[in-house]
Amino acid sequence: MTETHSDIIIAGGGMVGAALACALAKQGFTITLLERRKPDLQWPQHSYDIRVSAISRASQNIFHNLQAWPRMVQRRVTPYEHMRVWESGSGVALPWVPEIYFQAADIGEPDLGHIIENRVIQGALWEQMQTLENIEIRCPASISGLDLDEQSPRVILNDGARISTTLIVAADGARSSLRGLAGISTGGWGYNQTAVVCTVKAEAGNQSSCWQRFMPSGPLALLPMEQDLFSIVWSTTPKQAEGLVQMPPEAFSSALTQASEVRLGQLHLLGERGAFPLRLQHAKQYIKPGLALVGDAAHVIHPLAGQGVNLGLLDMAELTDILVQARDKGHPLGSLHTLRRYERARKGENIAMQGAMDLFKRVFSNDIAPLRLARDLGMGLAEHAPPLKNLLIRNAMGVAGNMPSLARVTR
Ligand SMILES: Cc1cc2nc3c(=O)[nH]c(=O)nc-3n(C[C@H](O)[C@H](O)[C@H](O)COP(=O)(O)OP(=O)(O)OC[C@H]3O[C@@H](n4cnc5c(N)ncnc54)[C@H](O)[C@@H]3O)c2cc1C
Repeated sequence: MTETHSDIIIAGGGMVGAALACALAKQGFTITLLERRKPDLQWPQHSYDIRVSAISRASQNIFHNLQAWPRMVQRRVTPYEHMRVWESGSGVALPWVPEIYFQAADIGEPDLGHIIENRVIQGALWEQMQTLENIEIRCPASISGLDLDEQSPRVILNDGARISTTLIVAADGARSSLRGLAGISTGGWGYNQTAVVCTVKAEAGNQSSCWQRFMPSGPLALLPMEQDLFSIVWSTTPKQAEGLVQMPPEAFSSALTQASEVRLGQLHLLGERGAFPLRLQHAKQYIKPGLALVGDAAHVIHPLAGQGVNLGLLDMAELTDILVQARDKGHPLGSLHTLRRYERARKGENIAMQGAMDLFKRVFSNDIAPLRLARDLGMGLAEHAPPLKNLLIRNAMGVAGNMPSLARVTR
């Protein structure tokens, strides 16, 4: 079999891998993108993907700078201006309701972020990739072997084809086979929670607001979609999740309406339900000579604050900056000298976010009275301390701190 060459090989054309391919191709690198399964690029207009992502301002900037944002807007994106987070029935008399309300106007922004179907994000990025001549997409493609070194790593595909390169990026998701082939282990634990996801219609309309109720079994999030639709992520015990997925649609709608405390009137299930077991996972290393991990291949976090893909997009934006600087200085892209800068920039931040979500999950998923009182007091304090509230929301939106170039506004 002949051997071909490409500056950078990216394994995985999900949201993170496809965004990275567009970013690096725009910088003049030749890219080979290997994807196992061809994504859906067309679908009936009134159908909804049950997988959606709450996209931060930083991620929106990345999509905008990659020219993919208008393609997403054309397909369907839903901005939201408000967010209501609450816990009820504390059983302790408090002078305030344990609830936090955020609104975009408080921080002078037009919205707090956007809810976008995953297939819309991936579809727009794939369309954009197809306009870039220096990206070769091989799909379906599976990798059977890796040969790692700093100067000239290579991958071997199942059909025997070999591709040599200067850097291999694993963007192949939580079960990354490249991570396994490279001998990188992961740490983490299961949450003993499963997220049930689906689309529902709400009697009260979407009100341009995200809603999240914390319950001892896990959080219920309602994310606004067009008009009166919401995408829901209901994290609960695996047993209850199984029941929720299997019960008749009317019984599910009624259970969901009760769980939401009827804040949006009656909720009605539309279409299918899906279930995703939740875990925290972190790769022990993000790099090896000639290899870097990005996105879920490097870290998986609880979806309660909708940060997973937003962190993955910051990984790819940071890696892009570092590779461009390395090329400009004549440094090898796959050397540990270059790649350590990427690991240093992202690993600490991702672990901090994972830790914060883990703490949130533990503090909110139990009914011990003193802990419950403490968190209700915490919510009340945050609600009545505008500077703290604004800091929380600016961090969640990705408009605070040092950002890689692609995540900054260039409009
Ligand atoms: C219920 C739920 C709700 C969530 N909500 C949010 C949210 O609101 N906001 C948010 O930011 N995040 C959210 N997340 C997290 C988010 O979905 C993930 O972080 C994101 O999908 C990771 O993207 P990725 O591109 O790294 O990996 P993936 O989406 O897993 O993509 C990996 C790609 O690699 C391909 N692949 C796999 N193996 C190979 C191989 N060997 N060779 C070639 N290709 C391969 C796959 O086919 C796939 O296309 C949520 C997660 C869950 C479970």
